[in-house]
Amino acid sequence: MVRINQIYINGEFVTPHGTETFNLINPANNQKIGEVTLGDEEDTKAAISSAKEAFKTFSKTTKQERIAYLEKLHIAVSKREKELAEVMVEEYGGTLQFCKMSVQNAISAFTTAIETLKNFDFEKTVGHSKVRMEPLGVAGIITPWNASNGFVCTKLATAIAAGCTTVIKPSEMSAQQTQLIAECFHEAGLPKGVFNIVNGSGHIVGAEITRNPDIAKISFTGSTVVGKTIAKGAIDTMKRVTLELGGKSPNIILDDANLSEAIPMAVFGAYMNNGQACIAPTRLLVPETKLDEVNELAKHTAQKVKVGNPNEADTIVGPMVSEKQYERVQSYIKLGQEEGATLLVGGEGKPQGLEDGNFVKPTIFTDVRNDMRIAQEEIFGPVLVIIPYKNEADAITIANDTTYGLAAYISSSDKERAERVAAQIDAGRVSINGFPHDPQAPFGGFKQSGIGREYGVFGLETYLEPKAILQ
Ligand code: NDP
Repeated sequence: MVRINQIYINGEFVTPHGTETFNLINPANNQKIGEVTLGDEEDTKAAISSAKEAFKTFSKTTKQERIAYLEKLHIAVSKREKELAEVMVEEYGGTLQFCKMSVQNAISAFTTAIETLKNFDFEKTVGHSKVRMEPLGVAGIITPWNASNGFVCTKLATAIAAGCTTVIKPSEMSAQQTQLIAECFHEAGLPKGVFNIVNGSGHIVGAEITRNPDIAKISFTGSTVVGKTIAKGAIDTMKRVTLELGGKSPNIILDDANLSEAIPMAVFGAYMNNGQACIAPTRLLVPETKLDEVNELAKHTAQKVKVGNPNEADTIVGPMVSEKQYERVQSYIKLGQEEGATLLVGGEGKPQGLEDGNFVKPTIFTDVRNDMRIAQEEIFGPVLVIIPYKNEADAITIANDTTYGLAAYISSSDKERAERVAAQIDAGRVSINGFPHDPQAPFGGFKQSGIGREYGVFGLETYLEPKAILQ
């Protein structure tokens, strides 16, 4: 039984003032594996005041000094790569394949930030004026459970590159992962107060970060509904906000695509991170003339997907993070049938032999209309919907007919055609023929998928205020 009863404030692990505890449950078997003591408002205020004090000197550090800190963080996190993946599998239920990749992303966040920083000019000339890009103050970082340390590392690395100090509130469901990453950050030997970490619930710790006047900016990843609450609360003190929210990303299979490649890739993509991924391509848009062929290929692929123990190297879909998340996904599988969609594979209930954990059958609905709730709402589980379209223009209309706009995917054997279609899609990222990775490319959403961008120069600038000096 793991007991996590410390938070991290002003360069040391301390016992929180808060006394409430939260149970940590292994989602693969619903056994209790530990307990975390949650911080409260007083703890959050202490963390903010430590970050505020540290900002006075950290904001004045040079590029070289920040690069040196980022290098130390990179080394410290890299050292514990294996443990970081193991604890993520146990606590969150992500598959070993996914967790290893996620930890790699967390580690590379520091090298990416170094690269961005090396090429960034904090002083530019615009018109006749000098423009100084200045760190904007203490950043509040609020993250969800679905790739906890990846989000924490990306946001922290960018804040440090900018010269900001931070108060981090991860999901309390990720407390073991948080403990491990806090140990890594501590080992890196940053000045006191540059990062502070408070485990705690959103409505207490998150709410204090949102309203506290000493927080200048919030970088949040999570649901659209909580993002809106934060944005409303932040406006009272005019905080800058970066919001990375939900998605219902279209995957357009153009009529010249190689279906035997594109469809299996589409199914695996929809099931990435057990379907708990904001960028997952969960709406598969296919030419109506090819629907039967697509159904056949999709069904065949889904039936081969291994669901089960996330620790096994070939598992593709592990358990949902919590019983609550399992129930949510079940309710959508029920709803899809009530709405009249055709259940192609999967369905309600747990796969045989996996009754103890929060396992969902990899599910596909076909003949789905885009106005159905299963096509409009984020399910956050291994549920793919297949929507037939008449022609290219119809595909673009359906793709854009959503309140979200985080990501989109296009498969075609004609790259120029795919780019022409990409130009007409309202989404922050459009990937052509697969899932290419570019850590310098901006990441974030159109419409209700968020505000602002992360990664690379676009991400760095969200932690900076331009100051024009005119003479
Ligand atoms: P939530 O939005 O519920 O929670 C995210 C974080 O916000 C948690 O740390 C949570 O704390 C905190 N929080 C909750 N309420 C408040 C509040 N009132 N004020 C401040 N903070 C608060 O999301 P989930 O954890 O359920 O994660 C899943 C969601 O995240 C999905 O909808 C998904 O689309 C989205 N997401 C978006 C990504 C993106 O980059 N666009 C990436 C990954 C996920 P607590 O744990 O205590 O509730």
